This record gives sequence, C-alpha cells and structure tokens, in this order.
Amino acid sequence: MGEHEIVIVWFDRDLRVADHLALTRACGVADVVVPLFVDDEPQDGWPRSKRQSIWLRRSLEALGEALRERGSSLIFRRGSSAEVVPQVAKEVGAQLVIWNRRYRPGLRRRDEHVSRALREIGIEVETTSGRLLHEPEEIRTTTGGPYHVFTPFWRKFQKVVDVFEPLDEPELGPEKAPSTWPKSDGLDAISKAGEASWLEYWQPGEEGARKTLERFVESGLADYVECRDRPDRTGTSRLSPHLRFGEVSPRQVWQAVGGAEEFRRQLVWREFSYHLLHHYPHTAEEPLREKFKDFAWRDDEEGFERWKNGETGYPIVDAGMRQLRETGWMHNRVRMIVASFLTKDLLIPWQKGARWFWENLVDADLANNTMGWQWSAGCGADAQPFFRVFNPVKQGKRYDPDGEYVRRFVPELEGLSGSSIHAPWEASTQELAGTNYPEPIVDHGEAREIALNLYNEIK
Ligand SMILES: Cc1cc2nc3c(=O)[nH]c(=O)nc-3n(C[C@H](O)[C@H](O)[C@H](O)COP(=O)(O)OP(=O)(O)OC[C@H]3O[C@@H](n4cnc5c(N)ncnc54)[C@H](O)[C@@H]3O)c2cc1C
Repeated sequence: MGEHEIVIVWFDRDLRVADHLALTRACGVADVVVPLFVDDEPQDGWPRSKRQSIWLRRSLEALGEALRERGSSLIFRRGSSAEVVPQVAKEVGAQLVIWNRRYRPGLRRRDEHVSRALREIGIEVETTSGRLLHEPEEIRTTTGGPYHVFTPFWRKFQKVVDVFEPLDEPELGPEKAPSTWPKSDGLDAISKAGEASWLEYWQPGEEGARKTLERFVESGLADYVECRDRPDRTGTSRLSPHLRFGEVSPRQVWQAVGGAEEFRRQLVWREFSYHLLHHYPHTAEEPLREKFKDFAWRDDEEGFERWKNGETGYPIVDAGMRQLRETGWMHNRVRMIVASFLTKDLLIPWQKGARWFWENLVDADLANNTMGWQWSAGCGADAQPFFRVFNPVKQGKRYDPDGEYVRRFVPELEGLSGSSIHAPWEASTQELAGTNYPEPIVDHGEAREIALNLYNEIK
C-alpha cells in the first residue's frame, strides 16, 4: 500500500515519461496514478500560436501512446484548470494532485488558483521540480537578490551545481490504473490532426526529443564550439522546441553532453532567462532598463511587413525571417541579427518583434524570447549595449562565409558569387539579371547613425 490510494499527475509543458519527477513521485507514493492534461492556456496576453497548437497535439498523442504502452492512460480535458483539476480529482477520488512546477508568471497565477481550489475541498497538493536544473530562487547574489549579469550567475550556478542525475523511469504498469478511467475529451480541440509543411523538419514528442539529443551527442557536440555560430551548418542541437514542451528534461540534456562546458553554458542561459522572468515578471512587455521607455521607437508598418516577409534587401536578415516562416525555427546567431536589424536599423519596438517570434517559433518560450529580445534591443539585464549595432553584411560574411545559408532560404540570390551574396548591390548586372530581390530598405550606415543619436537622447 502506498501513502495515498489515488494520485493525479497534472502534466503541462513536461510531456514526457522519463525523468519526470512528479510522475516518479506519484508512482512512489500512490496505489493508483491518473495522468491528466488540461487544455488551459493562461490569460496573460500570450495566447498559444497555431504552430504551437499543432506541436502540442502531436506531443500529446506521443505522450498518450507512451502511457498506453505502460498500461496507463492520459486523461485530456478542456476547460479552466481551476475547475477541471478539482473536478477530475473528485471523480477519481484522489487525495493528492502533484505537478512539476511552472514559472511563467501567468502559469504561476493559474497554478496558485488550482492549489487553492484543491485545498478548499480537502485535496493535497505537491509541486516538484522538472523544467529547470535549479529553482529560480536558488541562485542568489551575496546580498540575497537576483542576478542581472550572466557571468556571475554562471559562476554561482557552477558552485551550487548538483549532479543532475536523471531519474530512472517509474514503474507505472496496469496495477497503477484505476478500476475505470475517467472520460477524456478529443484532441481535435487543440488542433486538427492535419499536416503542416514545417513539420517535415521536426518530430514532436518524447521519442523525437530523444533521437534529436542522441544525434547531436553523436555527431554535433564535438564541433559545437567551432560551429555553434554558423547558420550554414547543423552546428547546434535544435533541442529548443523539445525543451519548450518538456519532451526532454534539462537534466537529461545536461547529463548526455558530459563535460561539454560551452554547451552546458547555453543551457544555463535558459536558466538565467527563467531567473530573470521570475524576478521581473513585467519584462515580457516592458524594458528592464526603464530609460528605454522614453526611446523614440517608430511606427513603421511597411518596414515591419518587409521584415516579417524577409524582404528587407539584406540577405542574412531575409534568410533568417524566411527560415522562421518555413521551418518554425531560426538559428541563434541570425535571431540576434534580425532582432538588431528590427530595433536598431528600423527602430521598430522590440515588443513587436517578440510578438512575431512568439507567433511563429515552434520553440516560443516567454522567458527565452523576452531575454533574447531585450538583449538584442539593449534594454535587458545583461544586454548587448545599444551602441553595438550589428552590421548585417559583415555578420553575413563572417558567419555564412560561402553564402550557403542565404542561398538555401533566398533562392533569388542563388546565382550570386560568395563575395556579393551578402551585398547584392555590389553584384554585376549580369549576376543580378532576372532576380527581383529588393533594394535595401535602409542604408545601414545612415540607420546606425540615427539610432545612436536617438540613444544619446535617453542615455
Ligand atoms: C531575439 C531572440 C529570441 C529568442 N527566442 C527564443 C525562444 O522563444 N525560445 C527559445 O527556446 N530560445 C529563444 N532564443 C534563444 C536561442 O536562440 C535558442 O534557444 C536557440 O537558437 C535554440 O536552438 P538550439 O536548441 O539548436 O540551441 P543550442 O545551441 O543547441 O542550445 C541548447 C539549448 O540551450 C538553450 N539556449 C541556447 N542558447 C540560448 C540563449 N541565447 N538563451 C536562452 N537559452 C538558450 C536552449 O534551450 C537550447 O535549446 C532567442 C534568442 C534571441 C536572440
């Protein structure tokens, strides 16, 4: 006999069976375990995009299958979590509901409501950790406050580092099943089962995450330091959507990459972004550095449209924006370049770019996206100083030296030679014949001067 007869595990953004602390804990203390997912997004102004809905549906199918193979079943319900979770708990007669802690401010508020609603009807609540290596409160400066700069955060992180050993898979088995399963709604409510062209690049679900990690460890990790900034290579892990949906845990990734310090450092950037959003929940909408509230951003709808469509006339920017549209993902170096271009060359507020990324990235994550945009716009915690304006031509030549990345996503420029592919205006008329690639939307040198003058007004 376990400590509890019946326990519910409430899944959300941790759509896996392996290294799932809440599931393992439930299996350890309960006779019967009921896995539950509720389709309830927080009402915090960041609704789930269509792409994320499609991914979610696939991932839930995979989780449902994994649980079925283990003699269990995923109960899927629609509705408000504060109503649905207590209702299912009553239906199955659960004494405890357990879940891996969530950090996005809207989710924290939602989860507090659920805890209250459960406790009011005498059902216990327990939260475990699973999305991060360290809880956001665990890493503190000597005076007890949050960090604003990454390097000291990373040093402290290494000092308080744990072994981060993933857990063995829990014993679920049919003996943990209730005598009758509660009813489950259909997944069509999340998204139709149909195809989307960008799915050809991905395999949502725990198995897809495991394969991606294995492939990276076998054939990408050794060259990570050398290649991670090269969008023309498969130099990074592409684990971000899998981490976003919790199909793999950061502990599993940390362990799988062994002592690969540079890669682990990137994983800790993720921890840092959660730390920041946890301590500064308003920063998804507002700049962390308050003086940026007075920055003279422009309302330039045409510029924004051309940026979104990958028609700025700067090949590396356009390749990035088209990679996003085609695949639902963009290389980190190019995310920085396109974000710099939007905010500093076009002077369009970073919030508009963050919103576009949110709607199109399969890995859209409020903590990482907010930090990435505030870093690029110069208004975040450990941000790139505003006066460092990326030159899109130089960045292209440096990180895509043969122009392969641009050729892949901007086929109009296919015929251009290595030297002019990042600056088509330098190409010969012969090379440009028949292409309808746009002229640069701004002159980068002039745009940079304007941006720096505006920055001087607020600094
Ligand atoms: C403007 C901007 C917006 C961004 N928006 C998001 C977002 O919505 N979701 C998201 O997951 N990442 C975001 N990033 C961070 C980064 O670009 C992606 O995590 C990375 O490109 C994912 O590819 P990967 O898994 O191959 O990375 P890898 O290099 O293989 O890194 C492994 C993992 O470490 C984490 N990581 C790596 N770099 C960063 C970073 N700079 N910040 C935080 N975590 C990092 C990610 O979880 C990533 O999956 C953004 C960066 C910028 C500049």
